[in-house]
Amino acid sequence: MASTMLRLEGVRAGYGPVEALKGIDLEVREGELVTLIGANGAGKTSTLKAISGVLRASAGRITFDGADIHRLKPAQILKLGIAHCPEGRRVFPYMTVRENLEMGAFTRSDSTAVRADLDRVFGMFPILRERLAQVAGTLSGGEQQMLAIGRALMSRPRLVLFDEPSLGLAPTIVERVFRIVAEIRAQGTTVLMVEQNAHLALRIADRGYVLETGTIALDGAAGALARDEHVRRAYLGG
Ligand code: ATP
Repeated sequence: MASTMLRLEGVRAGYGPVEALKGIDLEVREGELVTLIGANGAGKTSTLKAISGVLRASAGRITFDGADIHRLKPAQILKLGIAHCPEGRRVFPYMTVRENLEMGAFTRSDSTAVRADLDRVFGMFPILRERLAQVAGTLSGGEQQMLAIGRALMSRPRLVLFDEPSLGLAPTIVERVFRIVAEIRAQGTTVLMVEQNAHLALRIADRGYVLETGTIALDGAAGALARDEHVRRAYLGG
């Protein structure tokens, strides 16, 4: 079995008086595609933010390759190899496509490898090459999502955190985004993905966790979760 890359143990975090995470235990092994599903407000986004260091854990432990990361700053965590592709396609709207992609590589000084990664991103998203000089805010929703994914890949991460990559996109683009996430994993990058679309998420994932009001209610192989009575009723529409 592959070694554990990311581990959360008893992680608590919140926003002032609101405790969003009430003791999360979760692990992602090298090479896996793991999905985190759950209702609105369950704490999915907060879990990803705690991992990338945007939200500080108030208790518990987060390790990456066995080393504690929960006291590190977001830029340090990024440099270790964890990229966060946030909810809502947060590209820099007034920057061009090229500038957005370059921002993704800001921690790197290996310019030859950065150019190779740009080519890899263009291979995945040919439209971005065509739109290099276009201001990102004028791209369509689907194109912005592709840019957000491309930007995350530009740091050459070992683990990518995807927050609701399919949110608000047309159905044909949703299928495309899921195919791309699966392809990223097939190319060797480990993935932890938060999704509202539990049906598609469980179809491409190896394993899943079900988050309910700040705690893990259930976890298991993606296929077993997709067949689970509770998961079917609560998240798969019967
Ligand atoms: P969604 O799918 O709606 O994004 P989620 O499962 O990702 O939901 P979180 O966004 O992590 O859930 O929110 C968990 C809890 O923390 C919710 O009760 C939410 O209202 C609260 N929360 C999130 N962000 C903030 C914030 N900036 N300030 C105060 N409370 C917050």
